[in-house]
Amino acid sequence: MFAITWTGAPREDSHRLTNLMAEITGNKGLFLDLGGTLVRLDQDHELPVDARDKIVVELLPGVAQKLAPIRDHLLLIVTNQSKIKRGRFTIAAVEGALRELDHKLGDILTAWQICPHDDADHCHCRKPQGGMITDLAELYGVDLKTSTMVGDQELDERAARAAGVGKFVYAKDFFGW
Ligand SMILES: [Mg+2]
Ligand SMILES: [Zn+2]
Repeated sequence: MFAITWTGAPREDSHRLTNLMAEITGNKGLFLDLGGTLVRLDQDHELPVDARDKIVVELLPGVAQKLAPIRDHLLLIVTNQSKIKRGRFTIAAVEGALRELDHKLGDILTAWQICPHDDADHCHCRKPQGGMITDLAELYGVDLKTSTMVGDQELDERAARAAGVGKFVYAKDFFGW
């Protein structure tokens, strides 16, 4: 079936030169899950929303401190958002939350990809499939074998393995919780 994926636009930021240099030799990617890895989830393990139904972006401990100094990896977010399929969030709302996250981190993200599907769509992008990772790798010239993925769930680890990412680290270990 036809699957749609969504990718953040290439960044014009302080990492641009680093990124261009890395493209010559083969980029290393740090692939990052979103909810429960970079930002806090609510009791239902969902992205929290405020009284006006806006997604609340609250960084988890150590995330900014750990990611800000990274210069030798492209920072790429891959996130399942089946609430888009279910009509609970819009793509624009999730994109807005990712832009807010990027701003809070100091504009260091290279790109992101959102899977808006649920299991019934049988798409290639929904984790534990590796499609979001391999799509970003192709777009940004990422060498997956020397790349790392960080996530809080086993499905993140399975997606990383499916895509051929060299190393997987659980968020609690990566950020030292
Ligand atoms: Mg997660
Ligand atoms: Zn998908």
